Amino acid sequence: MTDLFSFELLAEDGNARAGIFHTPHGDLPTPLFAPVGTQATVKAITPNQLLELNAQLILSNTYHLFLRPGADLVAEMGGLHNFMHWPRPILTDSGGFQVFSLSDTRKVDMDGVTFKSHIDGSTRRLTPETSIQVQEQLGADIIMTFDECATPDDRTYIERAMQRTHQWAERCLQAKSRSDQALFGIVQGGIYTDLRTQSAEFISSLGFPGHAIGGLSVGESKMDMHAILELVNPILPKNKPRYLMGVGSPEDLVNGILRGVDLFDCVLPTRLARHHAAMTFTGRLNMMNASFAHDPRPMDENCTCYACQNFSRAYIRHLIAAKEMLSATLISIHNIHTLLEIARRARQAIFDRRYATFCAEFLANWHHRTSKGAL
Ligand SMILES: [Zn+2]
Repeated sequence: MTDLFSFELLAEDGNARAGIFHTPHGDLPTPLFAPVGTQATVKAITPNQLLELNAQLILSNTYHLFLRPGADLVAEMGGLHNFMHWPRPILTDSGGFQVFSLSDTRKVDMDGVTFKSHIDGSTRRLTPETSIQVQEQLGADIIMTFDECATPDDRTYIERAMQRTHQWAERCLQAKSRSDQALFGIVQGGIYTDLRTQSAEFISSLGFPGHAIGGLSVGESKMDMHAILELVNPILPKNKPRYLMGVGSPEDLVNGILRGVDLFDCVLPTRLARHHAAMTFTGRLNMMNASFAHDPRPMDENCTCYACQNFSRAYIRHLIAAKEMLSATLISIHNIHTLLEIARRARQAIFDRRYATFCAEFLANWHHRTSKGAL
Protein backbone atom coordinates (compact mmCIF):
# COMPACT_ATOMS: atom_id res chain seq x y z
CA MET A 1 0.00 0.00 0.00
CA THR A 2 1.26 3.47 -0.77
CA ASP A 3 1.28 6.15 1.91
CA LEU A 4 -1.58 7.88 0.13
CA PHE A 5 -4.04 5.18 1.22
CA SER A 6 -4.65 3.78 4.68
CA PHE A 7 -7.54 2.27 6.56
CA GLU A 8 -8.22 3.14 10.20
CA LEU A 9 -10.49 0.74 12.02
CA LEU A 10 -12.15 2.94 14.66
CA ALA A 11 -14.78 0.68 16.22
CA GLU A 12 -16.09 -2.87 16.07
CA ASP A 13 -19.42 -4.16 17.28
CA GLY A 14 -19.74 -7.88 16.68
CA ASN A 15 -18.55 -8.24 13.10
CA ALA A 16 -19.76 -4.74 12.14
CA ARG A 17 -16.99 -2.18 11.68
CA ALA A 18 -16.64 1.61 11.57
CA GLY A 19 -13.54 3.16 10.07
CA ILE A 20 -12.00 5.67 7.71
CA PHE A 21 -10.32 4.92 4.39
CA HIS A 22 -7.93 7.75 3.56
CA THR A 23 -7.54 8.54 -0.16
CA PRO A 24 -5.88 11.34 -2.14
CA HIS A 25 -9.26 12.97 -2.85
CA GLY A 26 -10.53 12.74 0.73
CA ASP A 27 -11.45 10.48 3.62
CA LEU A 28 -14.15 7.85 3.26
CA PRO A 29 -16.04 7.18 6.51
CA THR A 30 -17.14 3.53 6.59
CA PRO A 31 -19.59 1.84 6.41
CA LEU A 32 -20.30 3.79 3.24
CA PHE A 33 -22.72 3.61 0.33
CA ALA A 34 -21.46 4.81 -3.08
CA PRO A 35 -23.98 6.00 -5.69
CA VAL A 36 -23.21 4.74 -9.20
CA GLY A 37 -22.39 7.04 -12.11
CA THR A 38 -22.24 4.43 -14.85
CA GLN A 39 -21.37 6.75 -17.73
CA ALA A 40 -19.47 9.31 -15.62
CA THR A 41 -22.74 10.75 -14.36
CA VAL A 42 -25.08 9.72 -11.56
CA LYS A 43 -28.26 9.73 -13.62
CA ALA A 44 -30.50 12.80 -13.18
CA ILE A 45 -28.26 14.30 -10.45
CA THR A 46 -25.63 17.06 -10.67
CA PRO A 47 -22.33 16.73 -8.81
CA ASN A 48 -23.37 19.74 -6.77
CA GLN A 49 -26.51 17.95 -5.62
CA LEU A 50 -24.38 14.93 -4.67
CA LEU A 51 -22.15 17.21 -2.59
CA GLU A 52 -25.25 18.66 -0.89
CA LEU A 53 -26.30 15.08 -0.07
CA ASN A 54 -22.79 14.61 1.33
CA ALA A 55 -22.05 11.64 -0.91
CA GLN A 56 -18.40 10.74 -0.37
CA LEU A 57 -17.58 8.21 -3.06
CA ILE A 58 -19.08 7.49 -6.45
CA LEU A 59 -18.52 4.55 -8.75
CA SER A 60 -18.07 4.68 -12.50
CA ASN A 61 -17.95 1.80 -14.98
CA THR A 62 -14.79 1.04 -16.94
CA TYR A 63 -16.65 -1.06 -19.53
CA HIS A 64 -18.94 1.82 -20.48
CA LEU A 65 -16.26 4.51 -20.52
CA PHE A 66 -13.85 2.24 -22.42
CA LEU A 67 -16.45 1.91 -25.21
CA ARG A 68 -17.69 5.49 -25.02
CA PRO A 69 -16.15 8.10 -24.98
CA GLY A 70 -12.92 6.07 -24.65
CA ALA A 71 -10.21 6.32 -22.00
CA ASP A 72 -7.97 8.46 -24.25
CA LEU A 73 -10.59 11.19 -24.35
CA VAL A 74 -11.18 11.13 -20.58
CA ALA A 75 -7.40 11.33 -20.03
CA GLU A 76 -7.16 14.20 -22.53
CA MET A 77 -9.83 16.04 -20.50
CA GLY A 78 -7.77 15.69 -17.33
CA GLY A 79 -9.12 12.37 -16.01
CA LEU A 80 -12.47 11.37 -14.60
CA HIS A 81 -12.49 13.81 -11.65
CA ASN A 82 -12.02 16.74 -14.01
CA PHE A 83 -14.18 15.36 -16.84
CA MET A 84 -17.26 14.89 -14.63
CA HIS A 85 -16.38 17.64 -12.15
CA TRP A 86 -16.41 15.44 -9.06
CA PRO A 87 -13.83 16.53 -6.47
CA ARG A 88 -14.20 13.60 -4.04
CA PRO A 89 -13.03 9.99 -4.39
CA ILE A 90 -14.09 7.84 -7.35
CA LEU A 91 -14.00 4.07 -7.72
CA THR A 92 -13.92 2.37 -11.11
CA ASP A 93 -14.73 -1.28 -11.60
CA SER A 94 -12.57 -3.32 -13.97
CA GLY A 95 -15.06 -3.89 -16.77
CA GLY A 96 -15.18 -7.59 -15.97
CA PHE A 97 -18.74 -7.70 -14.68
CA GLN A 98 -20.22 -5.77 -17.64
CA VAL A 99 -18.29 -7.79 -20.21
CA PHE A 100 -20.02 -10.85 -18.82
CA SER A 101 -23.44 -9.31 -18.19
CA LEU A 102 -23.95 -6.87 -21.10
CA SER A 103 -22.04 -8.08 -24.09
CA ASP A 104 -24.02 -10.39 -26.40
CA THR A 105 -21.10 -12.47 -27.54
CA ARG A 106 -17.82 -12.97 -25.74
CA LYS A 107 -14.91 -15.34 -25.90
CA VAL A 108 -12.87 -15.91 -22.77
CA ASP A 109 -9.34 -17.24 -22.92
CA MET A 110 -6.62 -17.31 -20.30
CA ASP A 111 -5.27 -14.02 -21.56
CA GLY A 112 -8.49 -11.97 -21.56
CA VAL A 113 -11.94 -11.52 -23.09
CA THR A 114 -12.94 -10.62 -26.63
CA PHE A 115 -16.45 -9.27 -26.90
CA LYS A 116 -18.83 -7.31 -29.07
CA SER A 117 -19.68 -3.78 -27.99
CA HIS A 118 -23.35 -3.47 -26.99
CA ILE A 119 -23.28 0.02 -28.53
CA ASP A 120 -22.12 -0.58 -32.11
CA GLY A 121 -21.35 -4.29 -32.35
CA SER A 122 -17.63 -3.68 -32.86
CA THR A 123 -15.18 -6.31 -31.61
CA ARG A 124 -13.28 -5.20 -28.51
CA ARG A 125 -10.89 -6.85 -26.10
CA LEU A 126 -10.05 -6.42 -22.43
CA THR A 127 -7.21 -8.14 -20.64
CA PRO A 128 -5.93 -7.59 -17.09
CA GLU A 129 -3.30 -5.28 -18.54
CA THR A 130 -5.67 -3.21 -20.70
CA SER A 131 -8.22 -2.96 -17.87
CA ILE A 132 -5.54 -1.48 -15.61
CA GLN A 133 -4.31 0.79 -18.40
CA VAL A 134 -7.83 2.09 -18.99
CA GLN A 135 -8.40 2.57 -15.25
CA GLU A 136 -5.11 4.45 -14.98
CA GLN A 137 -6.20 6.74 -17.79
CA LEU A 138 -9.56 7.30 -16.10
CA GLY A 139 -7.70 8.10 -12.88
CA ALA A 140 -10.10 6.97 -10.13
CA ASP A 141 -8.78 6.70 -6.56
CA ILE A 142 -9.85 3.06 -6.13
CA ILE A 143 -9.50 0.68 -9.07
CA MET A 144 -10.35 -2.99 -9.37
CA THR A 145 -8.67 -6.11 -10.67
CA PHE A 146 -10.07 -7.65 -13.85
CA ASP A 147 -12.19 -10.65 -12.88
CA GLU A 148 -14.53 -13.19 -14.36
CA CYS A 149 -17.96 -13.21 -12.79
CA ALA A 150 -19.54 -16.60 -13.52
CA THR A 151 -23.18 -17.64 -13.29
CA PRO A 152 -23.97 -18.76 -9.72
CA ASP A 153 -25.03 -22.37 -10.33
CA ASP A 154 -22.33 -23.96 -12.48
CA ARG A 155 -19.55 -25.22 -10.23
CA THR A 156 -17.18 -26.34 -12.99
CA TYR A 157 -17.37 -22.98 -14.70
CA ILE A 158 -17.14 -21.07 -11.40
CA GLU A 159 -13.97 -22.94 -10.43
CA ARG A 160 -12.36 -22.24 -13.80
CA ALA A 161 -13.42 -18.56 -13.62
CA MET A 162 -12.01 -18.30 -10.09
CA GLN A 163 -8.63 -19.69 -11.17
CA ARG A 164 -8.58 -17.23 -14.04
CA THR A 165 -9.54 -14.40 -11.69
CA HIS A 166 -6.59 -15.31 -9.46
CA GLN A 167 -4.10 -15.31 -12.31
CA TRP A 168 -5.55 -12.06 -13.61
CA ALA A 169 -5.26 -10.48 -10.14
CA GLU A 170 -1.50 -11.13 -10.16
CA ARG A 171 -1.21 -9.71 -13.67
CA CYS A 172 -3.16 -6.58 -12.64
CA LEU A 173 -0.70 -6.02 -9.78
CA GLN A 174 2.19 -6.33 -12.22
CA ALA A 175 0.56 -3.99 -14.73
CA LYS A 176 -0.27 -1.23 -12.25
CA SER A 177 2.05 1.76 -12.54
CA ARG A 178 0.36 4.72 -10.78
CA SER A 179 1.05 5.12 -7.08
CA ASP A 180 -1.94 7.42 -6.47
CA GLN A 181 -4.52 4.68 -7.03
CA ALA A 182 -5.44 1.82 -4.67
CA LEU A 183 -5.97 -1.48 -6.52
CA PHE A 184 -8.46 -3.80 -4.79
CA GLY A 185 -8.43 -7.57 -5.34
CA ILE A 186 -11.71 -9.43 -5.93
CA VAL A 187 -12.76 -12.66 -4.24
CA GLN A 188 -14.86 -14.99 -6.43
CA GLY A 189 -16.03 -18.60 -6.04
CA GLY A 190 -19.83 -18.44 -6.36
CA ILE A 191 -21.82 -19.99 -3.53
CA TYR A 192 -19.30 -22.80 -2.90
CA THR A 193 -17.68 -22.49 0.51
CA ASP A 194 -14.47 -24.33 -0.39
CA LEU A 195 -13.93 -22.15 -3.48
CA ARG A 196 -14.74 -18.95 -1.57
CA THR A 197 -12.30 -19.92 1.19
CA GLN A 198 -9.60 -20.69 -1.36
CA SER A 199 -10.25 -17.44 -3.20
CA ALA A 200 -10.30 -15.27 -0.05
CA GLU A 201 -7.04 -16.81 1.14
CA PHE A 202 -5.32 -16.43 -2.21
CA ILE A 203 -6.47 -12.86 -2.89
CA SER A 204 -5.58 -11.83 0.70
CA SER A 205 -2.06 -13.17 0.21
CA LEU A 206 -1.33 -10.79 -2.65
CA GLY A 207 -1.13 -7.67 -0.45
CA PHE A 208 -3.87 -5.50 -1.94
CA PRO A 209 -4.79 -2.35 0.04
CA GLY A 210 -8.45 -3.41 -0.02
CA HIS A 211 -10.61 -6.39 -0.97
CA ALA A 212 -13.86 -6.81 -2.82
CA ILE A 213 -16.35 -9.63 -2.75
CA GLY A 214 -17.65 -10.16 -6.27
CA GLY A 215 -20.17 -12.52 -7.77
CA LEU A 216 -22.89 -11.95 -5.18
CA SER A 217 -26.39 -10.52 -5.71
CA VAL A 218 -26.36 -12.25 -9.11
CA GLY A 219 -29.32 -14.54 -8.47
CA GLU A 220 -28.32 -16.53 -5.39
CA SER A 221 -30.57 -16.59 -2.29
CA LYS A 222 -30.17 -14.07 0.53
CA MET A 223 -29.27 -16.98 2.80
CA ASP A 224 -26.42 -17.97 0.47
CA MET A 225 -25.22 -14.37 0.25
CA HIS A 226 -25.15 -14.04 4.04
CA ALA A 227 -23.37 -17.39 4.44
CA ILE A 228 -20.66 -16.37 1.96
CA LEU A 229 -20.15 -13.02 3.73
CA GLU A 230 -19.88 -14.80 7.09
CA LEU A 231 -17.30 -17.13 5.58
CA VAL A 232 -15.20 -14.68 3.56
CA ASN A 233 -14.99 -11.60 5.79
CA PRO A 234 -13.17 -13.31 8.70
CA ILE A 235 -10.54 -14.56 6.22
CA LEU A 236 -9.90 -11.09 4.81
CA PRO A 237 -7.40 -8.91 6.73
CA LYS A 238 -9.02 -6.75 9.39
CA ASN A 239 -6.89 -3.72 8.64
CA LYS A 240 -8.10 -3.25 5.06
CA PRO A 241 -11.49 -2.19 3.70
CA ARG A 242 -13.98 -4.76 2.40
CA TYR A 243 -16.21 -3.89 -0.50
CA LEU A 244 -19.34 -5.80 -1.50
CA MET A 245 -19.71 -5.08 -5.20
CA GLY A 246 -23.04 -4.08 -6.72
CA VAL A 247 -25.05 -4.61 -3.55
CA GLY A 248 -27.04 -1.80 -1.99
CA SER A 249 -30.71 -2.35 -1.30
CA PRO A 250 -31.50 -1.08 2.23
CA GLU A 251 -31.86 -4.57 3.69
CA ASP A 252 -28.70 -5.84 1.96
CA LEU A 253 -26.82 -2.81 3.28
CA VAL A 254 -27.70 -3.39 6.95
CA ASN A 255 -27.21 -7.16 6.57
CA GLY A 256 -23.83 -6.67 4.87
CA ILE A 257 -22.64 -4.26 7.57
CA LEU A 258 -23.73 -6.78 10.22
CA ARG A 259 -21.39 -9.29 8.57
CA GLY A 260 -18.35 -7.00 8.32
CA VAL A 261 -18.67 -5.18 4.98
CA ASP A 262 -17.38 -1.57 4.77
CA LEU A 263 -18.22 -0.37 1.23
CA PHE A 264 -21.24 -0.82 -1.01
CA ASP A 265 -22.38 0.48 -4.40
CA CYS A 266 -25.62 0.03 -6.28
CA VAL A 267 -27.61 1.55 -9.13
CA LEU A 268 -30.83 0.85 -7.22
CA PRO A 269 -31.62 4.36 -5.84
CA THR A 270 -31.40 6.08 -9.22
CA ARG A 271 -32.87 3.17 -11.19
CA LEU A 272 -35.88 2.96 -8.86
CA ALA A 273 -36.29 6.74 -9.11
CA ARG A 274 -36.69 6.45 -12.88
CA HIS A 275 -39.34 3.83 -12.22
CA HIS A 276 -41.17 6.16 -9.81
CA ALA A 277 -40.28 4.29 -6.62
CA ALA A 278 -39.22 6.09 -3.46
CA MET A 279 -37.10 4.19 -0.92
CA THR A 280 -37.93 4.82 2.72
CA PHE A 281 -36.78 3.32 5.99
CA THR A 282 -39.89 1.15 5.95
CA GLY A 283 -40.15 0.03 2.33
CA ARG A 284 -40.80 1.37 -1.16
CA LEU A 285 -43.53 3.74 -2.26
CA ASN A 286 -44.85 3.76 -5.81
CA MET A 287 -45.22 7.51 -6.36
CA MET A 288 -47.78 6.93 -9.14
CA ASN A 289 -50.15 5.42 -6.58
CA ALA A 290 -53.60 7.02 -7.03
CA SER A 291 -53.87 7.66 -3.29
CA PHE A 292 -51.07 10.24 -3.57
CA ALA A 293 -52.96 12.49 -6.02
CA HIS A 294 -54.07 14.87 -3.25
CA ASP A 295 -51.45 13.95 -0.65
CA PRO A 296 -49.68 17.05 0.73
CA ARG A 297 -47.12 14.98 2.67
CA PRO A 298 -43.52 14.52 1.45
CA MET A 299 -42.33 11.15 0.13
CA ASP A 300 -41.01 10.36 3.62
CA GLU A 301 -42.28 12.45 6.53
CA ASN A 302 -39.15 11.80 8.57
CA CYS A 303 -36.69 12.68 5.79
CA THR A 304 -34.49 15.79 5.78
CA CYS A 305 -33.55 15.69 2.08
CA TYR A 306 -34.21 18.63 -0.27
CA ALA A 307 -37.02 16.77 -2.06
CA CYS A 308 -38.87 15.89 1.14
CA GLN A 309 -38.37 19.33 2.69
CA ASN A 310 -39.97 21.10 -0.26
CA PHE A 311 -42.23 18.89 -2.38
CA SER A 312 -45.45 16.95 -1.83
CA ARG A 313 -46.37 13.48 -2.99
CA ALA A 314 -49.10 15.15 -5.07
CA TYR A 315 -46.53 17.30 -6.87
CA ILE A 316 -44.16 14.41 -7.56
CA ARG A 317 -47.04 12.28 -8.82
CA HIS A 318 -48.02 15.16 -11.12
CA LEU A 319 -44.44 15.43 -12.47
CA ILE A 320 -44.42 11.71 -13.26
CA ALA A 321 -47.82 11.86 -14.98
CA ALA A 322 -46.66 14.86 -17.02
CA LYS A 323 -43.42 13.01 -17.88
CA GLU A 324 -41.32 15.82 -16.39
CA MET A 325 -37.62 15.04 -15.84
CA LEU A 326 -37.67 16.68 -12.43
CA SER A 327 -39.50 13.66 -10.99
CA ALA A 328 -36.44 11.46 -11.56
CA THR A 329 -34.18 14.11 -10.05
CA LEU A 330 -36.26 14.61 -6.91
CA ILE A 331 -36.83 10.89 -6.28
CA SER A 332 -33.12 10.19 -6.96
CA ILE A 333 -32.11 12.86 -4.44
CA HIS A 334 -34.42 11.29 -1.88
CA ASN A 335 -33.37 7.68 -2.59
CA ILE A 336 -29.64 8.44 -2.47
CA HIS A 337 -30.18 10.40 0.75
CA THR A 338 -31.98 7.40 2.25
CA LEU A 339 -29.10 4.99 1.52
CA LEU A 340 -26.45 7.46 2.67
CA GLU A 341 -28.47 8.06 5.84
CA ILE A 342 -28.82 4.31 6.53
CA ALA A 343 -25.02 3.99 6.30
CA ARG A 344 -24.52 7.06 8.54
CA ARG A 345 -26.92 5.72 11.19
CA ALA A 346 -25.33 2.28 10.97
CA ARG A 347 -21.91 3.85 11.54
CA GLN A 348 -23.16 5.70 14.62
CA ALA A 349 -24.81 2.53 15.92
CA ILE A 350 -21.46 0.73 15.65
CA PHE A 351 -19.74 3.49 17.62
CA ASP A 352 -22.54 3.22 20.21
CA ARG A 353 -22.14 -0.57 20.35
CA ARG A 354 -25.80 -1.16 19.47
CA TYR A 355 -25.53 -2.30 15.88
CA ALA A 356 -27.34 -5.63 16.32
CA THR A 357 -30.34 -3.78 17.78
CA PHE A 358 -30.24 -1.16 15.01
CA CYS A 359 -30.16 -3.91 12.40
CA ALA A 360 -32.99 -5.93 13.98
CA GLU A 361 -35.20 -2.84 14.34
CA PHE A 362 -34.51 -1.71 10.80
CA LEU A 363 -35.35 -5.10 9.31
CA ALA A 364 -38.50 -5.48 11.46
CA ASN A 365 -39.82 -2.10 10.23
CA TRP A 366 -38.77 -2.79 6.66
CA HIS A 367 -40.51 -6.14 6.43
CA HIS A 368 -43.56 -4.90 8.28
CA ARG A 369 -44.19 -2.13 5.75
CA THR A 370 -43.29 -4.15 2.67
CA SER A 371 -45.65 -6.91 3.71
CA LYS A 372 -48.48 -4.39 3.94
CA GLY A 373 -48.38 -3.91 0.22
CA ALA A 374 -46.00 -1.08 -0.57
CA LEU A 375 -44.38 -1.51 -3.97
ZN1 LIG B 1 -36.31 12.60 1.25
